[in-house]
Amino acid sequence: MAEALEAAERLCARRGARLTEIRRRVLELVWRSHQPVGAYTILERLGRERGRVAPPTVYRALDFLIAHGLVHRIASLNAYIGCAHPDRDHIGQFLVCSGCGSAAELDDRRIDRAIRSGAEAAGFAVERPVIELAGRCPNCRERGRDART
Ligand SMILES: [Zn+2]
Ligand SMILES: [Zn+2]
Repeated sequence: MAEALEAAERLCARRGARLTEIRRRVLELVWRSHQPVGAYTILERLGRERGRVAPPTVYRALDFLIAHGLVHRIASLNAYIGCAHPDRDHIGQFLVCSGCGSAAELDDRRIDRAIRSGAEAAGFAVERPVIELAGRCPNCRERGRDART
């Protein structure tokens, strides 16, 4: 997590973007949870630390983090997860577990290239470059837990 925050600071400094205290803290909270975390949970934790925080503050911080590739949004879970390689512009590819709500990033460059060239050929501008595959993670498969469907 310390590494992720350092990488974020370097990346922002290089791009001339300001990793304000609140943005940094939100990124920290996203990383601290090892599973995708919802905006409401972040809001609640921030509120516990510093009193009431307005929701737009958190959403703006998340938008900033997403725009800089530091965080991905998992739409199917309506949650956020830290990216381990924000330095590289890439399409987020996630294995989303419907049992426990975990999300593992695949990061396969072949998929990245295939999607980019396919979208380009279709004249399509990708605005939210995230792929989500629903299924069961190894832990849930082992435990034979019922999916939350
Ligand atoms: Zn990523
Ligand atoms: Zn699972």
